[in-house]
Amino acid sequence: MNMAKKNIYFSSYKLDRFSHLRERAAQLEEMKKTHDAKYIPVYHGRHIYMDKHSSFYRRSNPFECESECFLGMVGDQMWYSCPLNDQQAHALEKEVGKQFSSLRRYALKLNDELAHIALYSRGLDLWQRNNKFCPKCGTQNKMTWSGHKLLCENNHEQFPHIEPAIIVLVTKGDKCLLGRKAGWPTNAYSVLAGFVEPGETIEESVKREILEESNIKVHNVRYYGSQPWPFPAALMLAFTAEAENEDIRVDDELEDVQWFTRQQLQEMLKEGYVTIAPRYTVAHNLIVGWLESS
Ligand SMILES: [Zn+2]
Repeated sequence: MNMAKKNIYFSSYKLDRFSHLRERAAQLEEMKKTHDAKYIPVYHGRHIYMDKHSSFYRRSNPFECESECFLGMVGDQMWYSCPLNDQQAHALEKEVGKQFSSLRRYALKLNDELAHIALYSRGLDLWQRNNKFCPKCGTQNKMTWSGHKLLCENNHEQFPHIEPAIIVLVTKGDKCLLGRKAGWPTNAYSVLAGFVEPGETIEESVKREILEESNIKVHNVRYYGSQPWPFPAALMLAFTAEAENEDIRVDDELEDVQWFTRQQLQEMLKEGYVTIAPRYTVAHNLIVGWLESS
C-alpha cells in the first residue's frame, strides 16, 4: 500500500520547551524582565476560546493560581499555563463573559502553534489535577519545577504519566477494517485502537488488540506516526497492518466491526451513512490517507 503521510494535527510547532529552565525559578524570573510573557488560564484541561481572535484566552500578566507552569518559548516569548481552581475559574468566566470549553470544540480553528500549546497545557493540567496525592504514601503533592514535577510531603517525586495506545488501519486488498463502540454518534466508524499493556511491545499490542476486537490476525505491521492525545493522558501510536483472514468476530468491546471497500466507504461518507473521526485526529489521517492511496 502506498499511503502519503499528511501532517498529523497538534504535532507541528515552533515552541521550544527549554526543559532545563523548569527547575531554575530564579533564572525564569530574571528572564521575565527582558522577555514578553503569555499566560494561559486552564481549568480541567479546558481553555476559554475567543472566536474573535481564533485563539484561547491569554494575557500578558500572570493569574492567581497554585503554580504557573512554564511551557517554553516561541521565539523570544515565554509561555506559561496557569491551572485555576474552581473559584478562580468561575471568577474569570464572569470577567471574560465566556466559559471554559473543551479543545475538541475549537481545535480546528487554531493555527498549528496555538493548537500544540493548547494540547500541551491540557495534558499538563490533567496530569496535575489527577495526581493531587502521592501514589506511594498518600500525602498531598505539590507542584515544583514550574509544574513539571510533583513532590509529596515525604519527597517522593512524580513526573507526567503518558499512556501509550495503538491505533491501526488494517487492510486486506481493497478493503479496510473499521469498527464502532456502542455510545458513539450514530453511524460513526473508526480504525481499531487499544492500550499497550505492561510487559508488551507495541507490535505485540497491535496484533493482540486487533485479534481481540475483531478476530483478525495481522502481519506487516508498519509505523505510521504518533499523536499526543491528552484525553486524558494517551499517546497514540499509529500503524498500518495487513490482515491474514476476513472472518470478523466482534467481542464485547465493540458494537460492530466491518470491512469497507474504498468505493463503499467513499459513497457512504458522501451520502452521510457513515461518519469518521474529526480532521484533527490521527484516525482521520489513517482513513483518508488510505482512501486517497492506490
Ligand atoms: Zn509520597
